[in-house]
Amino acid sequence: MSAIATDLGRIAGAGAVFEKEDSAPFEHDYTRRFTGRSVAVVLPENATTVAAVLSYCNDRSIPVVAQGGNTSLVGGAVPDEAVCLSTRRLDSLEVVGGSVDAGAGVTLAGINDALGQREVPLDIGSRDSATVGGMVATNAGGAFSFRFGRMGHLVQDLQVILPTGESLEGDEALWVAIGLEGTTGVVTRARLRTVPRKAFRHAAIARVRDPHQAFLLGRSVTDTVAEIDSVEFVSDRLVAMFEAAPSGGGHFLLFSSRTDDPDPASLGRALLDGGADDVELAQDDNQVLRMWAARDGLNEKLHHAGPPLKLDCRVPPEATGDLIEWLLTDECGTGNVFGHLLEGNLHVNPIVAEELATEIETAIISKCVALGGRVVGEHGAGRAKRHLLELETDLAAIERFHALKARFDPNDIMNPGVVAPIYESV
Ligand SMILES: Cc1cc2nc3c(=O)[nH]c(=O)nc-3n(C[C@H](O)[C@H](O)[C@H](O)COP(=O)(O)OP(=O)(O)OC[C@H]3O[C@@H](n4cnc5c(N)ncnc54)[C@H](O)[C@@H]3O)c2cc1C
Repeated sequence: MSAIATDLGRIAGAGAVFEKEDSAPFEHDYTRRFTGRSVAVVLPENATTVAAVLSYCNDRSIPVVAQGGNTSLVGGAVPDEAVCLSTRRLDSLEVVGGSVDAGAGVTLAGINDALGQREVPLDIGSRDSATVGGMVATNAGGAFSFRFGRMGHLVQDLQVILPTGESLEGDEALWVAIGLEGTTGVVTRARLRTVPRKAFRHAAIARVRDPHQAFLLGRSVTDTVAEIDSVEFVSDRLVAMFEAAPSGGGHFLLFSSRTDDPDPASLGRALLDGGADDVELAQDDNQVLRMWAARDGLNEKLHHAGPPLKLDCRVPPEATGDLIEWLLTDECGTGNVFGHLLEGNLHVNPIVAEELATEIETAIISKCVALGGRVVGEHGAGRAKRHLLELETDLAAIERFHALKARFDPNDIMNPGVVAPIYESV
């Protein structure tokens, strides 16, 4: 064992430290575009041990990368010549009135499966693996975020351990951790808001001809039906990837609602009144599940066809029509786009040769910025967007990040190299 691994074993327990080939599963990301080499992997079982690990590393200026479910789509949790601090063993879970207190390593599905009549109103395709700590650190969004907000809106309290080993809780902990991608400290637990589960979930797919119409339809339906919780856009090129794709072309919008009304008719009516060309309304739970399975399966389909570049775009919601229209033109040539339409968070998945990656990413993110958007979107900056940050026009957001980083991690040991702009708008 290396000297560092031996020391970490003394702090966390010998069985809680991996190195060499045992570290391999922690050293690449979900897309396998990002790989690295860890100094050692350590799995602390409580906040006290996290504090001891961090202060050991801080005293010796050893870089640390926190890793939860490792579902980051921007290579944010892959250690490179750093200690990988995995939160897997921080797995406490306690229901406290209308809230839930969860260890950083608990998955979203793990929480919602345990909650029974209530749920944390957040949903992402990686729900089975993404953890509380990772979702706080990335301020995860997802399908429900236009109705319930992003992860940061659901956090009532949390604990973050700073590099010195000091523990912060309460309001200060919130702004030192949410969306900061593990660059200031390690989240060890969070108290999350829950909402009562509704008795029925309805879903419908609407075909639309152009992206502007898609946005107007989304707005019109959400203005009419209060219980809508997601409006997901899927471009015509992605729809065509499904064997069972209906003929006739067009882009698709997936709407879903949670309600106490057993009848889905009001959702169908709102879609037709809003101008949808044709609508398929799920008639039972199986059909709802089938529609969502198709939407959730997009990443996997793209992965097999590609793998694609994963590029999330963040533009003002009103600009989504212009962005999608441009993505579909020959000038850009990548119509592989889906995402959370009313939030302005769209995921673009160009399947291109690696040597063209930077050129295409630069063109797409430049377009987003020209439309009033931001360089970093819902997945965070991680390693993937490092070279794109020079396109950022909101320089104050980057300065705010550096000021916070200098205050809480002056030795720059936490996820070094990651710059997570702190935006105040869009
Ligand atoms: C199929 C699929 C669908 C997805 N859909 C969405 C989506 O709709 N919306 C969305 O926002 N994201 C989505 N993602 C991206 C990803 O799931 C989220 O970013 C998620 O929040 C990451 O959680 P994680 O536990 O896997 O974190 P990791 O990937 O392990 O880490 C992500 C970042 O958080 C930091 N981190 C992890 N744990 C901690 C901690 N305890 N303390 C401090 N920092 C920490 C890491 O250092 C890294 O910078 C998707 C990913 C996949 C694979």
